Amino acid sequence: MREKDLKAANGGDSVSELTSWEGGIIQFPVPMDPPLRRVNSYILPDRNGQLTVIDPGPHTPEAEQAWENVLQSAGYSWNNIRDILVTHHHPDHYGLAGWLQARSGGKVWMSERAHDEAQRTWGAEAVLNETLPLYFTRNGMPEDWVQGIREHLERFLPQVTPQPVVSYMNTAEPFIMGNRAWQPLVTGGHAPGHVSLYHGDSGQILCGDAVLPLISPNVGLQPGGEPQPLLTFMEGLRELRGLRVSRAFPGHREPFTGFAERADSLLRHHEERLDTAAALLGGGPLSGFAVCEALFRGRVSSAHQMRFAMSEAMAHLAELVRRERASVIQPEPGGVTLFAAVE
Ligand SMILES: [Zn+2]
Ligand SMILES: [Zn+2]
Repeated sequence: MREKDLKAANGGDSVSELTSWEGGIIQFPVPMDPPLRRVNSYILPDRNGQLTVIDPGPHTPEAEQAWENVLQSAGYSWNNIRDILVTHHHPDHYGLAGWLQARSGGKVWMSERAHDEAQRTWGAEAVLNETLPLYFTRNGMPEDWVQGIREHLERFLPQVTPQPVVSYMNTAEPFIMGNRAWQPLVTGGHAPGHVSLYHGDSGQILCGDAVLPLISPNVGLQPGGEPQPLLTFMEGLRELRGLRVSRAFPGHREPFTGFAERADSLLRHHEERLDTAAALLGGGPLSGFAVCEALFRGRVSSAHQMRFAMSEAMAHLAELVRRERASVIQPEPGGVTLFAAVE
């Protein structure tokens, strides 16, 4: 069972604490920005002391320091890190991979789809800084929010620099970590090409942000991303809930049991949200921003939260359109797109 405080890192920061779990999985909460505050990195040592790291964290001075402290206190050196597996391209999971690779010489593994998304979002050719604000404007977001989101997007770049050299996982084959064979499972919706890793014999799953306890993973529609993220997210939940899971190791918060029940409650949450959004349109056509404001009223206080809230509202509207519960009213040039209820 759980062996708390396996080895506490002495970085003067209470988050640099390792927890050891069944099967040799080591949980290492890496500091990140609020509101999440921690992202779980997992370390899987093999019999020869070689390490696989899952999701190293964002590239920040605090995360660098936490890694320095933890490796030292656990008696490992950088050279012990052989593989670095990244579940998806978000900065809190992917950001430190390039830095860790430079230190350790480890191989960085991602699905090809997730790496495409990393390049599209953070690479030299990235256009999201322009396309996302434009998309939000067309869907009715006022300029002061759009400007805040523009600035917010630019602030992320240091957290994902340097970019790693990536090897593509063969997601049809088991991936060996800690002397055990883990089955990669690709699901979309939260992030394209998101990989969870499932060990059937023990029932353990490293599920990144595909399923989280206490938090509903963000499902966002963004230009250039998945066209139907809520559909793919819900399909992913239905696939994952069918696994025999003894314990899930998520990207945020604590490892948990009751995996299928958690997936079911996320499915219910999204069905309820769809009904709420459809009821809003029942009062007359609305912009995506108006729906976002009604859905997330009072819970959005920063550009960061607004970006996720708006993308999520757009994902719900796209799903209502797909289900033929809503239709799109295309605007005049320069106007705002509206959504209308289908009777
Ligand atoms: Zn994520
Ligand atoms: Zn995350």
